[in-house]
Amino acid sequence: MSLSKEWKLELQAIVGEHHVIDDPALYGPYTDDFTDHYVSKPLAVVRPANTEEVSRIVRWCALNHVALVPQGGNTSLTGAASTLRPDTEILLSLRRMKGLIHVDPINNTIAVHAGTPLAEIHDMASDCGRLFPLSFAAEGNATIGGCVACNAGGVAVLRYGTTRDLVLGLEVVLADGRIWDGMQSLRKDNTGYDLKDLFIGSEGTLGIITAVVLKLMPQPQEKETAIACVATPEDALKLLSLAQGQASSALTAFELISDQPISRVRKNLPDVPVPPLDDSPWKVLLELSYEIKSTESGLEKLLELAFEKEIISDAVIAQSQVQQKQLWHVRESIPLADRAEGGSIHSDVSLPISRIPEFLKETSQLIRSAYPWIGESIYGHLGDGNIHYNFVSSTDPQLTYQHEEGIREILYSQVNRFAGSISAEHGIGQLKLEHNYQFKSDLDIELMRRIKSVFDPEQILNPGKVLRFNQ
Ligand SMILES: Cc1cc2nc3c(=O)[nH]c(=O)nc-3n(C[C@H](O)[C@H](O)[C@H](O)COP(=O)(O)OP(=O)(O)OC[C@H]3O[C@@H](n4cnc5c(N)ncnc54)[C@H](O)[C@@H]3O)c2cc1C
Repeated sequence: MSLSKEWKLELQAIVGEHHVIDDPALYGPYTDDFTDHYVSKPLAVVRPANTEEVSRIVRWCALNHVALVPQGGNTSLTGAASTLRPDTEILLSLRRMKGLIHVDPINNTIAVHAGTPLAEIHDMASDCGRLFPLSFAAEGNATIGGCVACNAGGVAVLRYGTTRDLVLGLEVVLADGRIWDGMQSLRKDNTGYDLKDLFIGSEGTLGIITAVVLKLMPQPQEKETAIACVATPEDALKLLSLAQGQASSALTAFELISDQPISRVRKNLPDVPVPPLDDSPWKVLLELSYEIKSTESGLEKLLELAFEKEIISDAVIAQSQVQQKQLWHVRESIPLADRAEGGSIHSDVSLPISRIPEFLKETSQLIRSAYPWIGESIYGHLGDGNIHYNFVSSTDPQLTYQHEEGIREILYSQVNRFAGSISAEHGIGQLKLEHNYQFKSDLDIELMRRIKSVFDPEQILNPGKVLRFNQ
């Protein structure tokens, strides 16, 4: 089905002639996702400029029984921002709705439109001497609306929490087009159910987020960053415990990286400078940050102690901000290096931190005995218990995809066995829909279905994501 002339004119009357795109030749940035797994086939891409226009489009969709998929930067790793049923759904791009609404450095809050890219919010916060701490590799493209809709995590959760911990208020267009104004800047409000928390992490299935109020933090005056070498994940946990004892709340990031993905960065992205380190099978990228400048290096002291206790065998401490960025660049280049290798299968599992070494050992044995040809790419936010346990195959990328279901079955069964979650931060989308049904209780699913039916009884908001369509 293509967009009829009549419907096109009606949509153009709401958003303007140039913001209804129904020519597939112009779809690229909206329809092709980062994973190359999901290619949307929308009825049209519609680009509203403000909340009022979003509300009118939703009313139009409700009237004409047309489903819509809200989309921010289209950086989802789970197919959450892609259409499900070809030629029937509208892709509603929020990218035009960007910019500052209000900043209050005394209240330590900032209000922005939902389509504002994360990196631009960092700049806005920095302009008033504050920090907005949510940060990850796709921050140049990911929008704050998308981050809220996915409850994104990232590299500083250990210190500042997930998106949910950073959101104070929301404005949301509901499935009938009404605008819910929850744009509060309050730290405390005990007046019944917290409605904003329902929208956070709902992946566009309960409402369309049009504006957000966020917490700001004091800007660190100093940061220290290092990569340390450890022999095992058990040693990485010893280092984490030591760092938490020594550095306390200054510990901002603690990332575990196995040697394979680092080797792939060296091999596939030769322009990325990887520091010379010993060949231990695991590395830890850790960062301390301080609001008040200190006279001595807390990180140097910590790593010396770790060296004395034989927890680490080698380490590189960044000597400048440029070097700090270079160390982070190695970590952030891993998804691209894995993609370049071929057949990359991505996951974002969450586990009790203390059980991660045992989980990794057991799961790796199971995977290797079932799929001896596969390459592993294990890295992630160890300090939050969030591991990206990924798989690549340079010999035959297609073979990896052919066995994706079997690989995920082993991985997620293990996650379940270790009392973990199949999604720490990327959400369910299309990718993990059936696995979520497999591991959530019937009561969980029933309650989620009832919530969906209150907010979106006609199932026009991102149908088939998080919950099955028409059930
Ligand atoms: C290289 C790379 C690294 C990444 N690293 C991380 C990481 O460390 N941590 C992490 O958590 N994620 C990470 N991600 C995943 C992704 O960037 C996040 O999920 C991000 O929050 C998505 O933002 P977006 O604007 O691109 O949303 P999209 O991809 O456009 O949409 C994601 C979901 O949100 C919904 N949505 C988007 N905008 C709105 C809105 N305004 N109202 C309602 N629903 C909306 C969509 O319908 C969809 O369900 C990474 C992705 C890439 C490509």
